[in-house]
Amino acid sequence: MTKAIHLSGIRLHWVQVPLHEPFKISNGEVSVKDAILVELKGEDGNTGWGEASPMGGSFYSSETPDSTWEFLRSKAVPGLLERSLPEPGQCFEWLSQFPGEPFAKAGVEGAVWDFWANQASVPLYEMLCGSRRPVASGAAIGLMPSIDELLDRVDTFLRQGYRRIKIKIMPGHDVELVRVVRKRFGDIPLMVDANAAYTLEDAAIFEELDGYGLMMFEQPLGRKALHDHAELQRRLRTPICLDESAEDLESIGKAIRLGSAKIINIKVQRMGGLAPAKQAHDSAQAAGIPCWMGTMPELGVASAQALHLATLGNFTFPTDVEASARWFKDDIIEPPIEISGDGFIQLPEGPGMGFKIDMEKVERYRIRFEEFQP
Ligand code: MG
Repeated sequence: MTKAIHLSGIRLHWVQVPLHEPFKISNGEVSVKDAILVELKGEDGNTGWGEASPMGGSFYSSETPDSTWEFLRSKAVPGLLERSLPEPGQCFEWLSQFPGEPFAKAGVEGAVWDFWANQASVPLYEMLCGSRRPVASGAAIGLMPSIDELLDRVDTFLRQGYRRIKIKIMPGHDVELVRVVRKRFGDIPLMVDANAAYTLEDAAIFEELDGYGLMMFEQPLGRKALHDHAELQRRLRTPICLDESAEDLESIGKAIRLGSAKIINIKVQRMGGLAPAKQAHDSAQAAGIPCWMGTMPELGVASAQALHLATLGNFTFPTDVEASARWFKDDIIEPPIEISGDGFIQLPEGPGMGFKIDMEKVERYRIRFEEFQP
């Protein structure tokens, strides 16, 4: 029986870190990375950090930084200060009294896991039943303005050691992109992400892509199109990987039952925390479906926590978590996340997430701050 812990305070830090290049997918783009950091303070001086990481604008999800901030300050934070700190496995259950808000919940839940891991002086992966192992990282390349720029980008990431290359496709920019990348780089570990831009009517495109030996087709069809994905998968050798459709435990369970995918991309922010993401991993594992850890992408705190979870056994494909410097001009953790020459991310030693928070940087990039006491 763990002794009850009451927090002495919670601080919310909304930071905006500039991106090297706009983050662009088939339905929108942003040029700064917003994140709301949740800092828990214990009476004995222990801390826990989490990150709620919705994208600016609302093209990526219905949650925005504004709506997430509002939910945190008016609901989750006062609720957490009113009670004893939930144990990490129970925090998601406690949060489920509030509808929706997966990003905000992931921020609170991650902070609670980090707090307990720090309290027990154990690495976060240990609390999550993972193991100390390096995590293979893959590079994701957005839709580029030209074929030459795409090829340059693939070349750069291969040189940096990334363990697989993912390229985004959309109608009119698909088979040709794969063809030129295969022609130039040969049999590299390559996959495509369609971000739900196609329908079953476009099956012929995927039948053509099926001949290119890709690792997987990520989210070819619409978010709700689980039956159509199952139908498409029956016609293809290449595994379909669900991303947008893997939005919660219910959808993942349904996709597994229907045979909509052979691989699942699990995102901690979308699932609403580490515990539900672990549950998704476990149910996929029980069904013989391998997974990988996706990203929205997030800043260092959420990325680090996702990496700890990605040490679980059924996360067998490279993660989308890349080096901090891949997307962000800076990061608020120390050391930043780095990729070794052979494409792996090594978690630092130490309790909790292992990375330290750089308070000077948090203050530098902070655009809003609020402190709460019981
Ligand atoms: Mg995707």
